[in-house]
Amino acid sequence: MDEKSQSPHRRWNPLRQSWVLVSPHRTQRPWQGEVGQKAAPSEVSYDPQCYLCPGNQRAGGAVNPVYDGIFSFVNDYAALLPDPPAPAAEPALPLLVAEPARGLCKVLCYHPDHSLTLARMTRAEIRPVVDAWTAEYEELGGLDWIEYVQIFENRGAMMGASNPHPHGQIWSTGFVPDEPAAETLAQREHLTGSGRCLLCNYLQTEHDAAVDQGRIVFENEHFAVLVPWWAVWPFEVLVISRRHAGSLPEFTSAERNGLADALRRLTTRYDNLFSTSFPYTMGFHQSPTDGQKHPEWHFHAHFYPPLLRSATVRKFMVGFEMLGMPQRDITPESAAERLRACSEEHFWPRV
Ligand SMILES: [Zn+2]
Ligand SMILES: [Zn+2]
Ligand SMILES: [Zn+2]
Repeated sequence: MDEKSQSPHRRWNPLRQSWVLVSPHRTQRPWQGEVGQKAAPSEVSYDPQCYLCPGNQRAGGAVNPVYDGIFSFVNDYAALLPDPPAPAAEPALPLLVAEPARGLCKVLCYHPDHSLTLARMTRAEIRPVVDAWTAEYEELGGLDWIEYVQIFENRGAMMGASNPHPHGQIWSTGFVPDEPAAETLAQREHLTGSGRCLLCNYLQTEHDAAVDQGRIVFENEHFAVLVPWWAVWPFEVLVISRRHAGSLPEFTSAERNGLADALRRLTTRYDNLFSTSFPYTMGFHQSPTDGQKHPEWHFHAHFYPPLLRSATVRKFMVGFEMLGMPQRDITPESAAERLRACSEEHFWPRV
């Protein structure tokens, strides 16, 4: 890495149209090699107390079927409801604006085995999860009042996940939420201005710029996994489809396998980094389902993990980051280097 990238600088995030402050000199103290206790994954395949395990009763009273593959249901305590809301009263004051918000929140169990995670599932076990995400996107996005389908997963107590059972969520909304709305604008501007897709362009740039692989962690035939130039979280990763496609249903069967492969290999590297079940929020960004054409949209996944130096030391977004802008210490390049050094064999193999 050249000297310039070791002094404080800020980097532009073209996808979010915002800056991130990079302060690599703060990490020039020698690496402490601090490693947390190896955290064993849950060893129980079935937990009678888990509201997601097959055959168990949920807090709302419903009983899960004895499922043996994928299982999805409408969230018993949903943040959004599908019923048309009562029309909002005319705001009496121009700065106090509210709008009715409709949505549908679902939970998707990836596997009946309580002890598993994406990292410890095989590609063949993750493939049906990709198929289920695709079907949910099509079905929910097909509803005329749903404008966006947000598929995501919170992994680990550090990210507020209340249950270790392998599962994710799907919140579909009658409006396009702020993050994908901002990315829609940025991608549209880039397409209009350059005639090229922003993320196709960015991936090409990363290939051209790669010195000793640069920020690319690994690639398979269909997906690239990299620490983006503008990463905010220490080991933030962007998973980009190598072919231009706006959403899950556009992928071929081989590409769906490619996505399953990329997710397994990335999450395994994450777990191996600090020998722990690595916490993160991950989710897919894809074309809104608002009835408009979206040639600007390029499918990708964001992984936002909070861990910094060990299984127990986390990054906090406080102080200058709340009041000014996000800041990071280790460079995206050194984060990519460390992730590249991790094995794709899980440190805690299944028996
Ligand atoms: Zn469970
Ligand atoms: Zn593209
Ligand atoms: Zn995005």
